[in-house]
Amino acid sequence: MSISLAQETQNISSGTPSGLSGLEEKLIAYRRELHQHPELSNQEFVTTQKITQWLNAAGIRILSLGLKTGVVAEIGPEQGPVVALRGDIDALPIEEASGVTFSSQQPGVMHACGHDFHTSVILGAAYLLKAREQTLPGRVRLFFQPAEERFGGASQLIKAGALENVDAIFGLHNAPELPVGTFATKGGAFYANVDRFQITVTGKGAHAAHPEEGTDSIVTASHIVTALQTVVSRNVSAQDAAVVSVTRIEGGNTWNVLPQTVELEGTVRTYSSEIREYLPQRIRKVITGVADALGAQAELHWYAGPPAVVNTPRWAEFALQAAAEFGYDAQVAQAQMGGEDFAFYLHHVPGAFVSIGSASHFGLHHPQFNPDESAIYPAANYFQQLAEKALVELAGE
Ligand SMILES: [Zn+2]
Ligand SMILES: [Zn+2]
Repeated sequence: MSISLAQETQNISSGTPSGLSGLEEKLIAYRRELHQHPELSNQEFVTTQKITQWLNAAGIRILSLGLKTGVVAEIGPEQGPVVALRGDIDALPIEEASGVTFSSQQPGVMHACGHDFHTSVILGAAYLLKAREQTLPGRVRLFFQPAEERFGGASQLIKAGALENVDAIFGLHNAPELPVGTFATKGGAFYANVDRFQITVTGKGAHAAHPEEGTDSIVTASHIVTALQTVVSRNVSAQDAAVVSVTRIEGGNTWNVLPQTVELEGTVRTYSSEIREYLPQRIRKVITGVADALGAQAELHWYAGPPAVVNTPRWAEFALQAAAEFGYDAQVAQAQMGGEDFAFYLHHVPGAFVSIGSASHFGLHHPQFNPDESAIYPAANYFQQLAEKALVELAGE
């Protein structure tokens, strides 16, 4: 952590009302509370109650958007620009193995992506902004978004009207691979287009001793898996990034029968929308061609996931600059192959998604994921400052 970051923290704790004393401890306590009681996507009922309670306690107004889960709140005067800050609140179907004293009390459910961390950061920013409400040149809207892991939450909030009048939006993800005190983002494509596919290979079942009487769907599926490896290596330019991964293969249920069908499943990651459109066509050709050659059939089912997170260059640069001024080690991020439904907001309003170093030895979605909580309070302060700076910038336009 740099010196200026420590100074910043001091300024804030000495220059703000007494309600904010001990805010760092409070935010860590909130995060642990959420961590112990994780809830899956679209089932964040208790989480929603807790966030509502914590916002109410600070006198922060909550917008009634008719959400089933999730909370949208607002701070600042009616007139002027609107800046949104987005955190996400859902957990994953993972059995926690981090060994922390505040481990999940919900069997098979864990905050393994750090959305409890994000919630705590945005709550902290909300508290800090509330204390400065009289001086804000516009409104800050706070999104506590459900169902990020299922890629549905952002669309739910948009449909409910959460983006109305928003001039710029910012969101964060903790980055376990970066040290605490590190900040990263980039303009343009940051996270990938995430698509899912299923392939059904249909042959003709037969006795395993008489393969000549059937059409072997397992051998066909195996050739398909191998042939799919050529899609990126032979059909996509080395200048462009893409991934095709087969992640599930299922067929047969005993040792002496050739099954009729085999199911394959996997994911495709891309940045450019042209390549995103091209790959399913190419995959369809490869699988039907291979299946045809071997006397079987293959059918492709395509499930489009969230589009790439494409940061507005202006706001990515703005966030990076604000991070450097704040005292973060601010870096231009590398593009990631992961997906984020924050992408949907950026289809409607400009903004930027950023990474905050959380220094976990184990990565996101790992049962031993354990982000460093000391990154929460500085991040809360950063987002308070970022929101204010953005409001000032927008108010001056
Ligand atoms: Zn996740
Ligand atoms: Zn996440």
